Amino acid sequence: MKIPFSTFKNLDDELKPEIMQKFESIYESGWFIHGKEVNEFEKNFAKYIGCKYCIGVGNGLDAIKLALLALGIGEGDEVIVPSNTFIATVLAISQVGATPILVDPDIDTYNISYMNIKKYISNKTKAIIVVHLYGQSADMDEIMEIVKDNNLFLIEDCAQAHGAIYKEKKVGSFGDISCFSFYPGKNLGALGDGGAVVTNNKKYDFLVRTLANYGSDKKYHHIYKGFNSRLDELQAGFLNVKLTHIDEMINDRCRIAHKYLNGIKNKKILLPITKSDRNHVWHIFAIRTKTRDEFQEYLKNNGIDTLVHYPISIAKQEAYLNDKLNDLEGAYRISLEELSLPLYYGMSNEEIEYVIDVINRY
Ligand SMILES: *Cc1c(COP(=O)(O)O)cnc(C)c1O
Repeated sequence: MKIPFSTFKNLDDELKPEIMQKFESIYESGWFIHGKEVNEFEKNFAKYIGCKYCIGVGNGLDAIKLALLALGIGEGDEVIVPSNTFIATVLAISQVGATPILVDPDIDTYNISYMNIKKYISNKTKAIIVVHLYGQSADMDEIMEIVKDNNLFLIEDCAQAHGAIYKEKKVGSFGDISCFSFYPGKNLGALGDGGAVVTNNKKYDFLVRTLANYGSDKKYHHIYKGFNSRLDELQAGFLNVKLTHIDEMINDRCRIAHKYLNGIKNKKILLPITKSDRNHVWHIFAIRTKTRDEFQEYLKNNGIDTLVHYPISIAKQEAYLNDKLNDLEGAYRISLEELSLPLYYGMSNEEIEYVIDVINRY
């Protein structure tokens, strides 16, 4: 049997009639930037997350960059960020001129450790960016207490955790500003690039909205030296279709993850742990094993594709070698031991059971 790491085919086939109809209606409207689909998506998504405001932007990286700029973070400021995230989270900090301060995760959940955060707060610290890695919320109560005690800003990077819940609230509703990506592979994915910023603060809504549209509050009236980072009207239309199916899409990921959790019984494989006061939306099903490369090769030889999230920790990335970032043990260990199993909408029971069987025979 051949098992891809991921495929959109099952979902794309199911949604094709609705997506095609949406395309046709936008095509006929002849309106492709900042039209009624973007408007509607911003309303729908704000409501889904439980925030007052949502601004569609070009992608997830821009969402984080715009959030930092709206909070006035730049040169001379330090921003605390997980040592084991996708590089975009850290790039955004560098690109506004601030200094990323890497902090190691809790090795059980892979999310930033609040105990470790405390060690790295200085008088230059302005903000913490939490990442709800792989689809599970970080420790929000403890982190929000640190934020409050030290008068910091909180940004949530929710690119892997659309719909994830912490103590009955969706992630994205805790931060001063929260950021989402709609890259096709994310749990809510467009048919190209896309992103969003959500907030409950009217001033931040205005700043992000304006900065993302040439610094313009009215047409040809520019109050900031802004950017062009807008959620495309077509992508917003497709996202409006997909958002109505997001719960089914998440439930299906949970179905597959629970089969893995119940079926994989191999002492060499460490299964993911979900804390009891939150759920997991399984953007990534991350296991750990000491013999990762050999195990990945074994799965490959049995027709099962996997990925590593991420094979090189940020401190060790070539782009950051001159920055001399905190080269921490936890991030390095995860880069050596982590492996992500295949998990995609519509994955059949036969496919799941085949993966479980091959793993149990390792
Ligand atoms: C995907 C991702 C991003 C970046 O999103 P893009 O839309 O690809 O720019 C940022 N942070 C995390 C944690 C991600 O997984």
